[in-house]
Amino acid sequence: MSVVDEVKQKIDIVEVIGQHVPLAKAGRNFKALCPFHTEKTPSFFVFPERQSWHCFGACGTGGDVFSFVMKQQGIDFGEALRLLAQQAGITIPSKSAPEAGKDEKERLYQANEAAVHFFHDALLNSPAAAKTRDYLLGRGFTSETVTAFQLGFSPNTWEGLKQHLQERGYTEKELLDAGLLVETDDGKTHDRFRNRLMFPIHDARGRTTGFGARVLDDSLPKYTNSPQTLVFDKSGTLYGVDLAAAAIRKQGRAVLVEGYMDAITAHQHGFNNVVASMGTAITERQLTILKRLTRNVTLALDADTAGEEAMLRCVDYENSLDAEVQVIILPSGRDPDNVIREDDGAWQELVESAVPVVDFAFSMKTAKLDLTTAGDQSRAANELLPIIAKMKDSVRRDHYLHKLAILTGIRYNTLEGELKRRLVPAKPLKAKARFTTTSTLRTLLSSPLEEYCLRLLLQYPELRDKGESPLPEHFQNSQNREIFVAWQQVDDLPSLQERLDPLLWEQVESLISQSVLGNGIEDKYIDCVLRLQQQYLRDQKEEEAAVAATAVEEEGAGADLAKLQQEGIESNVQLRDVFNQRDRIRRSTKR
Ligand SMILES: [Zn+2]
Repeated sequence: MSVVDEVKQKIDIVEVIGQHVPLAKAGRNFKALCPFHTEKTPSFFVFPERQSWHCFGACGTGGDVFSFVMKQQGIDFGEALRLLAQQAGITIPSKSAPEAGKDEKERLYQANEAAVHFFHDALLNSPAAAKTRDYLLGRGFTSETVTAFQLGFSPNTWEGLKQHLQERGYTEKELLDAGLLVETDDGKTHDRFRNRLMFPIHDARGRTTGFGARVLDDSLPKYTNSPQTLVFDKSGTLYGVDLAAAAIRKQGRAVLVEGYMDAITAHQHGFNNVVASMGTAITERQLTILKRLTRNVTLALDADTAGEEAMLRCVDYENSLDAEVQVIILPSGRDPDNVIREDDGAWQELVESAVPVVDFAFSMKTAKLDLTTAGDQSRAANELLPIIAKMKDSVRRDHYLHKLAILTGIRYNTLEGELKRRLVPAKPLKAKARFTTTSTLRTLLSSPLEEYCLRLLLQYPELRDKGESPLPEHFQNSQNREIFVAWQQVDDLPSLQERLDPLLWEQVESLISQSVLGNGIEDKYIDCVLRLQQQYLRDQKEEEAAVAATAVEEEGAGADLAKLQQEGIESNVQLRDVFNQRDRIRRSTKR
C-alpha cells in the first residue's frame, strides 16, 4: 500500500477539517461556513462516507483530505502528505526524501545534520567535553535522553566544525548560510558556536533547522541560538516538536514551556507532550504549529513578569486561532525543569489544575485593584471588557460577563450594555458544535479509472494531443491530480520527475510499470476520458443530492435549495451530454 493510501486509511477527513473549521452536523454529513471565502450561510460541506469536501458557494471546488490541507495551509502536496503522515504516525521511507543537493534549503538541512553528528560525537568522546558531560550528569540526564535530543558539545576551536564540514563537501558559503559560521570584518570566517553545550533544533518533520547553545561558565548571554536563516526562524520554531508530536496528538494537549532544559526534563520524566518556545515571547506562528496537532495548549511559563505578560498576550491568540489556551501557575521562582526534577507528581497536578487563560487574565488584571472603590471597578471593567468583546462564542462571552459582574460588583445589565457597544459588528458567529465521526468507509482510497487514464498518458505520450483532454478536477484523488497537472506542464518523463515530489514520482513509476497493451489505444483513451467526466459529474450530483436533502430539513434554506436544484439540473444536463457522446463514439467505432 502506498503512503498516500495508508494516510487516507488512517486519517478521517472530518477530524482533520474539524481541527480548523467548526463543523456542524447536517444529516450524514457536516457543514460550516467556508474557510476559503466569506459567507453568511454555510455552503462548505464535508462528506464522511466519501472522505471528501466541497464548497458549493463562491469557491465551487472540493477534493480530498490532501487538497484541503494544501489549500488551508498553503503548502504543496508533498508537504501536506508528510504532515498528515506524521499526524497518522506513519513513517515515510527515507528513500522518499528529496534527493541530495536538490535545492538550497535541503543543503542547509544536511549541513546542520552533519553538524549535529559532529557536536554529538564531541560530547560523547572528546576529553574537552568532560565538564559538559559532568554538567548533564549533574542535571540528571540519562544517556537515552542525551541521545534522543542529540545533545552535543562545540569544541573551543575556531575552525573545528568548519574544517570537518568542508572535508565533507560543504562550501564556506553554505556553512555561512546555515548560520554555522560567522564572518569577521576582514572577511574571514570561523565557527559560530565554541565551547558550548549544543541543542539541535528540529522542525515538525524532524529536519535540523538550527541550534541552541548554552555556556557552561558564568559568561553572558547564557543561551544563544542560530541566526535567522533560510531554514531557521526562531519565532516559528518549537523546540522538541518532532519528539512531542505523537504524544500531543494522542493526549489532545500540548504543554508549552520556555527553555530547552524544561522540555528535555519533561520528556525524560515521561511528559512527552511538552515543547519549548525557546524564550518568553510566544508567537502566533508557534501556536499555529501546535494547532495542527491539537486545539488545546497549556502554557507553563516562568512565574515572572515577562512570563505573565506573555501569557496575557495569548488571550488574543485564543480568539484568532480558535484554540483553547490554559495556563499553569508555577510557584514563584520555580520553572518546569526544577519542579519536575523535584517531584513529577507535583508537575502532573499543576498541569491538571491549569486555568483558562481568560480566567488568568481576570486575576492578573484585578490583582492590584481595590474592587470596593468605584474607580477600580471601572478600571477592571475597562481592562476586561475588551477581552470579552473579542470572544467569538456568545455563551462564553456571557459566562465571563457574569464573572466580571460578580468580581466588580457592577450590575450585569450595565456591563452587557457596555459590551454591546464594544462588540465588533457583522462578523458571522461560527457554529460551536464539533462532531467527530467513526466512519470507516474509505471510498476514495483508490481510483482505478483515474489511474488507468494516467497510465495511458504516461505510457503513450502521443495521446497528449488526442481528443478532449481531461480537466484537473476530473481527478478527484489529489495524488492523481497532482501528477496530471505536472504532466500537463512538462514534455517528458525526466522533467516530470524533476517537477514531482519523490513520493509522487514513486506513484508514477508504479503507473508506468503496469503497461497497457493492445490495439486501439487512442479509442481506449477517449473512452477513458469520457468515463472520467461521467464519474466526476455523477459524484458531484451525489454530493449535491446529499446537500439538498439536508437543506429540505432546515428552515429558511429555500433560496439555497433552489440554487442547488438549479445546479443539480445543470450537471444533469452535462451528464446526459457525456452519455450521448460516449454512445456516439461506441456506435462509430463498431461500424
Ligand atoms: Zn468557499
